[in-house]
Amino acid sequence: MRIVIVGGGTAGWMSAAALARFAPPGYSITLIESETIGTVGVGEATIPPIRRFNDALEIDEAEFLRATKGSFKLAIQFDGWHRPGESYFHNFGEVGQQLGLLPFRHYWARGRALGLAKPMAHYSANEVAARTGRMSTTAKGPGIPEVPYAYHFDAGLYAAFLRKYGEARGVVRVEGLLKGVTRGADGDIAAVVTDDGRSIAGDFFVDCSGFRGLLIEQELQTGYEDWSRWLPCDRAVAVPCAPSGNFTPYTRSTAHRAGWQWRIPLQHRIGNGHVFCSEFMSEDEATAILMGNLDGEPLAEPRALQFVTGRRKQFWVRNVLAVGLSSGFMEPLESTSIHLIQSAVTRLLTVLPGQKIEPKVVEGFNRRAIEEFEGIRDFLVLHYWANARVGEPFWDRLRSLELPETLSARIEEFEAACLVQPRLDELFTESSWLQVMVGQGLEPRSWNPIANRYSEGELAGFLGAVEKAAIETVRPMPLHMDFLAALCGQDQAEQAA
Ligand SMILES: Cc1cc2nc3c(=O)[nH]c(=O)nc-3n(C[C@H](O)[C@H](O)[C@H](O)COP(=O)(O)OP(=O)(O)OC[C@H]3O[C@@H](n4cnc5c(N)ncnc54)[C@H](O)[C@@H]3O)c2cc1C
Repeated sequence: MRIVIVGGGTAGWMSAAALARFAPPGYSITLIESETIGTVGVGEATIPPIRRFNDALEIDEAEFLRATKGSFKLAIQFDGWHRPGESYFHNFGEVGQQLGLLPFRHYWARGRALGLAKPMAHYSANEVAARTGRMSTTAKGPGIPEVPYAYHFDAGLYAAFLRKYGEARGVVRVEGLLKGVTRGADGDIAAVVTDDGRSIAGDFFVDCSGFRGLLIEQELQTGYEDWSRWLPCDRAVAVPCAPSGNFTPYTRSTAHRAGWQWRIPLQHRIGNGHVFCSEFMSEDEATAILMGNLDGEPLAEPRALQFVTGRRKQFWVRNVLAVGLSSGFMEPLESTSIHLIQSAVTRLLTVLPGQKIEPKVVEGFNRRAIEEFEGIRDFLVLHYWANARVGEPFWDRLRSLELPETLSARIEEFEAACLVQPRLDELFTESSWLQVMVGQGLEPRSWNPIANRYSEGELAGFLGAVEKAAIETVRPMPLHMDFLAALCGQDQAEQAA
């Protein structure tokens, strides 16, 4: 089985590394990429499942963080997303603790109605740690099994790191500009051809060519489902700046007039970008806003990017699987793109094709991938729709969106009865949905009556104990900078100071 990967960005090298690690004997892996084209050059924030990927590849955490100039991420802070001047965190991990069989949110909702409960932030160890700039990979507290985390890293360095990893395990890298494709008699792709006439034959092709979608779209014309009616941002300007010393263990997302700005602290720099909607803002204005909101000196010229939010109609067609930006893009609001690469590669490994590709397997693969994309889409749309930024045309338009039915049903359930019920295999958990719903100003009208079994005194005691558990969990955690320095070596972390 000859697997050919087209593209050597994050998607290409994550695919190559995972296939090299897990494919059985008899599989060869070739990756073709072009230095003249380069990679998209952004993508620095991740979510906790990335740790499973690195662990599966037996990558040492300290080595990885040193190589990618990475840092830790406990949460995303959303500034001004509900309305200017307000802020909330979407923390990884649980908020509060279950009591009996009932989730915390019901007790919290009743506590709020009675004036007993504090804002949700007080009941999350991740948030207490994020706000106080603390980090540990082994934190545990009373009733709090772990403090989940992800990473910020330089995606270019991550791809380089995985390239080394893949090549050491037999991946053959071909430098070349792909110019054409040859098809077999059955219509499948038989080989890709470079501009200097080399032909690289394969049985299965992984299209990691980025937005171009060289195989999945340009050759197979699969089609794209455009989601810009729900996610209308279509541009970004990105620029790194010098570190400021405010080495936060979280990403910050600040809402602006027609979009939002990310801030991602790495060891050697802060990654910044302004995602915006070109219908409501010019690139010059978006760039000026970005440059006016940096922590330190810019380290490069701002770079502009364009995209259309949505997904490929099918991800796996014939003997081609699209992975990464070639499969679709939903903007970086919740740092899901690199995760979608991981998820596609993992799913590929679970159904790794032998000599014959089974149509039912392909159908199942596509169905699951579509569900995953749609779950994330709904979660992102929630952030935009539930805003109270009245009087700003971009945000006014978003408030009046006709929501995907799947999302409006969830919102109604929450408002009616404090219910948050993601599918079992959904990426964003109950805790994530809850925090964003509450952060964006949604309020449950009632809660499960089981929460009424407790007296007001008992309820206040329970809420107080949960808050204390979060504080106690964080108390022994070192500062993010110190923790990273101890893990990776002093010199690395000092650069960020
Ligand atoms: C503004 C923005 C911000 C983002 N932020 C985040 C984030 O914070 N977190 C996150 O998870 N994701 C983020 N992403 C997404 C993330 O950058 C991508 O998912 C990730 O980098 C994977 O990209 P890729 O490998 O699919 O494509 P690319 O990086 O574009 O790589 C494409 C590869 O294909 C090769 N190629 C293309 N054409 C040819 C050809 N003709 N011949 C040979 N080779 C060719 C290129 O040389 C390159 O190696 C962001 C994306 C954007 C646009």
